[in-house]
Amino acid sequence: MLNWLPKGKKAAICFTIDDIHPGKSSDFYEAGGDLDKGSLGYVQRLMDKHPKLKTTLFTTADWREISPVPTRKLAAKIPFLKDKMYLAKVLKKGTMALDKHPEFIKFLNNETRFEIGLHGLHHIHKGEKLPQEFQNQTEEEFDIILKKMLKIFDDSGIKYVKGICPPSWHAPDKLQNQLIKNDIKFVASARDIFTPISEDAKTNMSGLKDLPLIYPTQIKNNKLIHFPSNFQATSKPERAFEIIENRGLLAIKAHIIKNANGMIALDGVDQLYMNYLDVLLTEIEGKYGDDIWWTTMGEMSEFISKNN
Ligand SMILES: [Zn+2]
Repeated sequence: MLNWLPKGKKAAICFTIDDIHPGKSSDFYEAGGDLDKGSLGYVQRLMDKHPKLKTTLFTTADWREISPVPTRKLAAKIPFLKDKMYLAKVLKKGTMALDKHPEFIKFLNNETRFEIGLHGLHHIHKGEKLPQEFQNQTEEEFDIILKKMLKIFDDSGIKYVKGICPPSWHAPDKLQNQLIKNDIKFVASARDIFTPISEDAKTNMSGLKDLPLIYPTQIKNNKLIHFPSNFQATSKPERAFEIIENRGLLAIKAHIIKNANGMIALDGVDQLYMNYLDVLLTEIEGKYGDDIWWTTMGEMSEFISKNN
């Protein structure tokens, strides 16, 4: 069995947020760009109350999505054509590129409780599944996308870990091969907030299926580490305690955009979700104290690489 939990710890907690990019409330929607005045401020205040908590921000290199669903309704009905075009308006390349937003990068780099992970190059794809960036591309195409993504991260000066949460959790096998080739150490593909908790529960919702629901694991001949997400705003506190009692990883997920042009995300970061986590984490601290490893996917990935 994978050795992933330091000695003396009973369970682990990590918190990850997707879709981070420099979008401000004066753009189509806010996604971190308002810095401490926006959604990331809510997260900072939660971490103030829970000093052991750290947050991994899965960040997109050059976000181009405006609408998460097709808005070109007519084109979406035409076979063949619909797969050849973006079915909603998208941002021009470079608009949200990390290397064009130095004040955003400075803010993220200065907040030591944030860990930055990868969340795609543009977060768009032609055809019906607009945000699902990694679909049926060839290995060469995946390689090009990943290299462009990494170059923007490097050019921007952002500090980041070599791990990815693929947009819409979709990580095809050919992508996994290219992740390994591009020295990416972990992938957080499977999200499952429904399957009941048990030691041998397997993921069966978004992203990769049939992987451990409450433990990290190694895939692709142990060349890639996989972390599940198993808890969100709509999950009941009992689910968190069941995961801890099973000596698991409580992997809490959120999305930074609460309201994308009227589409409300159930797990979007807002005051209500942060209040819920505040109460839950307070209860966990009271009950388990030092038995909990408050960690990040990047830290766990390093621990696993060293100890297996
Ligand atoms: Zn996303």
